[in-house]
Amino acid sequence: MNMAQHPYVYLFGSSRTDGAASMKNLLGGKGANLAEMCRLGITVPSGFTISTEACTVFTEQGKDAALKLIEAEVLQGVAFVEGEMGKKFGNAADPLLLSVRSGARASMPGMMDTILNLGLNDDAVRGLAAKAGNERFAWDSYRRFVQMYGDVVMGLKPVSKEDHDPFEVVIEMVKKKRGVQLDTDLDTADLKELVARFKALIRARIGRDFPTDPWEQLWGAVVAVFESWNNDRARVYRELNDIPQSWGTAVNVQAMVFGNLGDSSATGVAFSRDAGTGEDLFNGEFLVNAQGEDVVAGIRTPQQVSLVGSRRWAELALVGEEERRAKYPSLEELMPQIYQQLLHAETTLENHFKDMQDLEFTIQEGKLWMLQTRNGKRTGAAMVRIAMEMLQQGMIDEKTALQRVAPDRLNDLLHPIFDPKALKAAAVIARGLPASPGAASGQIVFFADEAEEWVKQGKAVILVRQETSPEDLRGMSVAKGILTARGGMTSHAAVVARGMGKCCVSGAGAVHVDYKARTMSIGDKSYAEGEWISLNGSTGEVFAGKITTKDAELSGDFGKLMTLADKFKRLEVRTNADTPEEARVARSFGATGIGLCRTEHMFFEGERINAVREMILADDEAGRRKALAKLLPMQRGDFEGLFREMSGLPVTIRLLDPPLHEFVPHDEAGQKVMAQQMGVSLAKIRMRVDDLAEFNPMLGHRGCRLGITYPEITEMQARAIFEAGLNMQAQGIDVKAEIMVPLVGTVREFNAQAEVIRGTAAQVFAERGEGLHYMLGTMIETPRAALVADSIGKQAEFFSFGTNDLTQMAMGFSRDDAGKFLPEYLKKGMYEHDPFRSIDQKGVGLLVEMAVQKGKAVRPDIEVGVCGEHGGDPASVAFFHRAGLDYVSCSPFRVPIARLAAAQAAIGE
Ligand code: ADP
Ligand code: MG
Ligand code: MG
Repeated sequence: MNMAQHPYVYLFGSSRTDGAASMKNLLGGKGANLAEMCRLGITVPSGFTISTEACTVFTEQGKDAALKLIEAEVLQGVAFVEGEMGKKFGNAADPLLLSVRSGARASMPGMMDTILNLGLNDDAVRGLAAKAGNERFAWDSYRRFVQMYGDVVMGLKPVSKEDHDPFEVVIEMVKKKRGVQLDTDLDTADLKELVARFKALIRARIGRDFPTDPWEQLWGAVVAVFESWNNDRARVYRELNDIPQSWGTAVNVQAMVFGNLGDSSATGVAFSRDAGTGEDLFNGEFLVNAQGEDVVAGIRTPQQVSLVGSRRWAELALVGEEERRAKYPSLEELMPQIYQQLLHAETTLENHFKDMQDLEFTIQEGKLWMLQTRNGKRTGAAMVRIAMEMLQQGMIDEKTALQRVAPDRLNDLLHPIFDPKALKAAAVIARGLPASPGAASGQIVFFADEAEEWVKQGKAVILVRQETSPEDLRGMSVAKGILTARGGMTSHAAVVARGMGKCCVSGAGAVHVDYKARTMSIGDKSYAEGEWISLNGSTGEVFAGKITTKDAELSGDFGKLMTLADKFKRLEVRTNADTPEEARVARSFGATGIGLCRTEHMFFEGERINAVREMILADDEAGRRKALAKLLPMQRGDFEGLFREMSGLPVTIRLLDPPLHEFVPHDEAGQKVMAQQMGVSLAKIRMRVDDLAEFNPMLGHRGCRLGITYPEITEMQARAIFEAGLNMQAQGIDVKAEIMVPLVGTVREFNAQAEVIRGTAAQVFAERGEGLHYMLGTMIETPRAALVADSIGKQAEFFSFGTNDLTQMAMGFSRDDAGKFLPEYLKKGMYEHDPFRSIDQKGVGLLVEMAVQKGKAVRPDIEVGVCGEHGGDPASVAFFHRAGLDYVSCSPFRVPIARLAAAQAAIGE
């Protein structure tokens, strides 16, 4: 159909479909899947998709250029829909009405606004009423259209955050005047009044009349969708989800079908599996005589699609079976035939896409229309269960199953649950829907921006809202949990919380939120801002007060997934652990060694800090040796614990790393206490602390520089390691010690430390008449070390990349100071990611790759690994895999994440 060289418009319908699911980049997820449904013979209202390329033209060249480019094709698109539906757009007697829907490549729930019933005006509404033989329906559609268009296209918004939606205020007023509660109770006269009032409101507040020409309405809506790509909430969502700003959105223009045509009409959403738990159970929600987003907007209590779901819902909502059947029957009971059709569509789509589907549908006078399908968002737990069950059901293979789980989302499963004992004593004050699992305790806060502020102050908060909207995203992302008074399982809050893996209870009907008074009341009890409450997102319970939490249990599908990951991964995953407890947890998570034990962490505990300070205060080597002698048995004990816990697995121990000033108090009160304990004068302490002060401690007297100026420290630590190793070996424990010298820049530094360590080994082994196999290596964390890795590699048996320091020194800024400009930098696109969170592959990564090559060139069997935050970041893990490392090391709770990321890296090769 396209005269132009490049089509900007793609048709879908019963007679012709241009698009397909494979064209997501061009058509957006929604448009591509609408086309695919047409191809599968599923009933979809006809329409067309304006491609994302048109949005790019709009963003780059402006409105006029974009509209000129697409105008002719859009006219043809509308003509196509007219032909399919047998109605004319703009015909007052029997108008074709349209919906205008945005749709980017990645689904962005609630980000961009849809406009329904476009094409109505004062004449067309009469034609619609006459044709349908239903005046109320026509006016209901009209008032919805004016409301949506007035908001989305014309921009009539609340004046302040405490204020209500101005249209809703008018609706409430009319309802009150009429003495009714529900929107369905409004009659035709009320709806006419609403339309008139809405238009007057728009004229008064915007200064323009509501457009009556359908074509003007259509172009206005198309432009609004393009503009919405750049609105605040869409940008926030993209930032949170790593979606590039440059993708653009498509626009879908589609014939309307009506769920608000009376009791044989309805609208709803459904999931082919449970998005919370992953259970293979068809479920969803719908509302009779409703349109569009009514279900997710939480205006009325939605009904369940399936009977099983309905019974489960009733149990949680404390609704008896009688009442359920009378007031909230399932679709399965209410419209059994339609339910069967929906079930058929669901099965077809899930089998076709081989993934859990999230469906939107409308029933118009007993006929089912599908409006959307996409791979459903789900909790981490559901990701794991669905992947493993689909594997078992033969729908997907092992590699696909592994790729279905986002490594970061395993966090959800590792998250705490309430301590059952503490829970027994807690009082349930309200119940809502179990919208997103997990347990959370926090202080009540009512506004998203304040949630952010409070969290910055170090508080734990629960965001309590009547209902959330996309403006609340940032606040939701920092809250421990979210509680809403309205909305179902598919409400905005529920969907977004599940996406974030955040605990959420939605639709707690007994909760009344008063934004002005900043209170939440339940019955006659009131809870003020700042009071503690707790949520169980798995049961929907709300508790008064703070409840302690307990770690999650890991088995079943999670265990199977991890076993599968190990089958494919090549990288080993070790852990950063300083205590036997941490080592034990990490081992239970599948760590195959300790990649980093920070010995200085042992220096702070209990009595030890006094010995450390004594060493720091000492005037000469003899004094230091005396103090170090006190530390020796304690360090030896620490190492024994680690070796025991990790029997058979490597334990990498880093020698003392931080500058000594970290061990002395910097405030007067602390110095006084220290003076007393050490039996020296305050003046002496002060002098020593001043001596230790550095302008830039990150680049100061630390790492192997300490061991070189005070070899006796290295000697003590080496002795502690060897004695501990021998002691444990004597008990039958398989000790694999790896001693690591930090912050080396030249091979001479390494050699100097190696001499002390090897000398100590010889001495200890001679004393004991027994030897211990150990490895001696170095960290590669100064850029110079990476540059001369070949000369260092001749001496060191292993390299461990300290990517935190390597990043700081290579980029030229310290992690402690980066906070001042990094957020702005990320916003301005100076870096794609925070280089401390995900390794800068193109820059710092080159140093890693180079050092690996140089090391292997001089010592082919050199062991290379990574310790530091990057070891638990999936994108970095993939990079380390490609760089040819042997292992990554990360904090215990990130071990499963790294294992899965390592498997995905191997599969993706
Ligand atoms: P979102 O991207 O937020 O999911 P949609 O474009 O899916 O927004 O539109 C929201 C809702 O509007 C749909 O779930 C559906 O109920 C309703 N809707 C959209 N287009 C139509 C249509 N052509 N006929 C009837 N309802 C529609
Ligand atoms: Mg939708
Ligand atoms: Mg370091």
